[in-house]
Amino acid sequence: MTDAPASAALLDRARTVIPGGVNSPVRAFRSVGGTPRFMTRGQGPWMWDADGQRYVDLVCSWGPMILGHADPEVLEAVTEAAAAGFSFGTPTEREVLLAEEIVRRVEPVEQVRLVSSGTEATMSAIRLARGFTGRSVVVKFAGCYHGHVDALLASAGSGVATFGLPDSPGVPASAAGETIVLPYNDIEALEATFAERGTEIAALITEAAPGNMGVVPPAPGFTDALRRVTSEHGALLISDEVMTGFRCSPAGWYGLEGMPQGGAPDLFTFGKVMGGGFPAAAFGGRADVMALLAPEGPVYQAGTLSGNPVASAAGLATLQRCTPEVYDRLAEVSSTIAEATAEAFSSHGIPHRIQWAGSMFSVFFREGEVRDYDDARDQDSERFGRFFHAMLRRGVHLPPSCFESWFVSAAHDDEAVQIVVDAVRESAAEIA
Ligand SMILES: *Cc1c(COP(=O)(O)O)cnc(C)c1O
Repeated sequence: MTDAPASAALLDRARTVIPGGVNSPVRAFRSVGGTPRFMTRGQGPWMWDADGQRYVDLVCSWGPMILGHADPEVLEAVTEAAAAGFSFGTPTEREVLLAEEIVRRVEPVEQVRLVSSGTEATMSAIRLARGFTGRSVVVKFAGCYHGHVDALLASAGSGVATFGLPDSPGVPASAAGETIVLPYNDIEALEATFAERGTEIAALITEAAPGNMGVVPPAPGFTDALRRVTSEHGALLISDEVMTGFRCSPAGWYGLEGMPQGGAPDLFTFGKVMGGGFPAAAFGGRADVMALLAPEGPVYQAGTLSGNPVASAAGLATLQRCTPEVYDRLAEVSSTIAEATAEAFSSHGIPHRIQWAGSMFSVFFREGEVRDYDDARDQDSERFGRFFHAMLRRGVHLPPSCFESWFVSAAHDDEAVQIVVDAVRESAAEIA
């Protein structure tokens, strides 16, 4: 029945002891169907599943593996760190080096606090913004994902400037009710909301360039508008660069788009690439805001494993390896794959739209610009599912959802890229 018997058997066992058999929902393949592959090994652009099948990896752990799997230099740094002790619960020099590297790369970030996941980073940034402003309401955009923070798991209510509804059981109406959800790239809705509720709003959080509804970059002038409107109303602007940070450019989306008119975002959040595949993330920004964090200030925030030596070593070695040549290779690999996809889809009459944020891109199964979440949802997800499996059978592992960016690494060599290009051509013919 399945072409992955060992993974199917593991999934059976996993389901007994882990809900759905997975530790993060998208891994379960629910939106594409079939058996999620249990991986046993990765090297460079490749990963191998429990049945011994090799794949070109276009998930890259959802972004972190920017250098490919088991990069030798990162491996050496991790091994050395681990050999010297796993965790102390005291400060260590590596945390300082990692913080310095982040501050050096992202000019408006004066201070950072290290945490263990992107979720923790956005949760802490929101708490800090509320502490700083003495206000409670948070504005976010539909289709932007900021981790599974209660206040950020909210769906839009009906009409502009209504408070959010819980996106999940277990999120109290009170938590979601402190959140306003707006359509992305809609300056009018933004202005109307702040005009009505500006004095209650602590912060606006946005993905620097959204990648969690597929890639939907800010329209020209949109980031400027976010800065202008938040400043006018005394709210902080939080730029979530967990996905884009150190991937879109050496300084993330900020490094690509540049300083918004009216000044930089007040706070940034980072994760994924900066952990090098280990649990490390961060939030940071203006020193006067960060000064409110304990122990300097009254806003509490902590973590037993925050700044963990092994995770910090992985993150630091990864960032140090992210040279201009690495970004050149990411651009080359992603443009080759995207061009081949566009060509193959066009020649078989498959409606598609490819959008970019630096070398991050995604393929929408529809025509026409995608500007917000409503646009993104208006695509042929059933056809994507068939494409996904056609690619998987040809040894290419895409993200198992049409709402995700395709992630490449600098280790994707010509052999790996050629396998993807061939697979795309054959798969397009199959799903036409
Ligand atoms: C992945 C992601 C998060 C959450 O990070 P986790 O480490 O999964 O908690 C937050 N924001 C954005 C933009 C992300 O892509």
